[in-house]
Amino acid sequence: MSVTCCRANMADETAKAQLAQPGGDTIFGKITRKEIPAKLIYEDDQCVAFPDISPQAPTHILVVPKKPIVQLSKAEDSDAALLGHLLIVAKKCAEQAGLTKGYRIVINDGPEGGQSVYHLHIHVLGGRGLQWPPG
Ligand code: 5GP
Repeated sequence: MSVTCCRANMADETAKAQLAQPGGDTIFGKITRKEIPAKLIYEDDQCVAFPDISPQAPTHILVVPKKPIVQLSKAEDSDAALLGHLLIVAKKCAEQAGLTKGYRIVINDGPEGGQSVYHLHIHVLGGRGLQWPPG
């Protein structure tokens, strides 16, 4: 994947995030309920994981809870075990993808955080050197 391609994707994602609104069902709700197909690489009773449709790195996996938490800032104290579980699954997905040199875990929250799908999800990004700070 070229740098130009990634920058174009990032601009698209930023625009989507600025337009996205919380509320209602989302594409991730439909995927977790199997109403639309996705290439699941992991599933258990609490979450699924699948490749991002618009990858920002050679490996870009999304870990999505079956519970439709809208965004991290709306999670409740009672979601603590689920949130921990999502991180463990993210770690396992990174291992399974062979990301032995490291990877980045991202949760975008709200318009300024770049969130475009209002169903909580964890990004697992790796397979190239990732820049810091993020854009
Ligand atoms: P956010 O911007 O909300 O943090 O991340 C949403 C992510 O979902 C984006 O990286 C976007 O490419 C991805 N995405 C949006 N729609 C779909 C879809 O239908 N399938 C998959 N696999 N990924 C999607």
